[in-house]
Amino acid sequence: DFDVLVVGGGPAGAAASIYAARKGLNTGIVAERFGGQVADTVGIENFISVQYTEGPKLVNSLEAHVREYNVDIMNNQRAVALRKDGKIQLELQNGAVLNSKTVILSPGARWREMNVPGEQEYRGKGVAYCPHCDGPLFKGKKVAVIGGGNSGIEAAIDLAGIVEHVTVLEFAAELRADAVLVKKANSMANITIITEAQSTEVTGDGSKVNGINYTDRKTGAAHHIELAGIFVQIGLVPNTEWLRGAVELSPRGEIIVDERGQTSLPGVFAAGDATTAPYKQIIIAMGSGATAALGAFDYMIRN
Ligand code: FAD
Repeated sequence: DFDVLVVGGGPAGAAASIYAARKGLNTGIVAERFGGQVADTVGIENFISVQYTEGPKLVNSLEAHVREYNVDIMNNQRAVALRKDGKIQLELQNGAVLNSKTVILSPGARWREMNVPGEQEYRGKGVAYCPHCDGPLFKGKKVAVIGGGNSGIEAAIDLAGIVEHVTVLEFAAELRADAVLVKKANSMANITIITEAQSTEVTGDGSKVNGINYTDRKTGAAHHIELAGIFVQIGLVPNTEWLRGAVELSPRGEIIVDERGQTSLPGVFAAGDATTAPYKQIIIAMGSGATAALGAFDYMIRN
């Protein structure tokens, strides 16, 4: 049996497992794919104290750091259910059931994709999902933001301070973002907002993005915009479908946590992009993983 069982091998889970192991706790980590979203990231410039790194390189360092400790790494294993019956039980897809005194959930999230031709081909080559991460790569260039919700309009305002011009493409007739954000975006000279626009294809020159095609849903007319970058902001989906009913989730499916990472189920903690904690970033995920592990340690010495 484990003292601390971590679900997820991204930055949150890696940090949680190191903090737990350093307390002398018997720690295991179950990960469908060690590294998480970081494994899919090209350049990383905002991991403080490291001026520049690349996703796969950071994943190798994360794994090497975890392996410094006596952590049982169960990679390529998917958790499918969580129960508490005295001990906490984690069921894996392969049928195994692991018992633990505490669990730290850090299954992360995935960006909702447009699912149009060119999106996968040019991912990291102009197609981006994180304005805080990749905005500066498009300094002085033209970009589009897909999605007119809060994250899309915030991204447009953020990017407008860096890039030459931002076009927002929104599928619906109205923007869903808060009025104060829409007002701010409308006041900025280098933001153009187009509603009733259905993105249909990311175009490129074979090595990087050079534009986007969209259809005007009112008239059916096809349009093309020349640009260097496309920020897809149509939602971040937490990987928590399997936790429904086990721990309390927000309406968006995020695991509800308090300031110590404690969930609604005593002894079960959570960290990273899968939680209600705002701002989804590597450094924030790591910090919350450390918090959750210390929270779990506190819980264990009291129970
Ligand atoms: P994740 O990294 O999503 O890891 C989740 C882990 O849980 C994975 O190991 C996954 O396999 C596992 N898992 C999920 N479900 C299960 C299950 N049921 N059973 C077992 N394991 C499971 N942030 C920055 O700070 N800087 C950047 O430059 C940056 N660039 C980015 C670029 C891209 C393309 C993307 C997608 C994200 C980027 N981010 C960046 C965001 C950053 O990657 C995330 O905030 C961070 O990885 C979140 O960490 P996490 O540990 O919470 O989750």
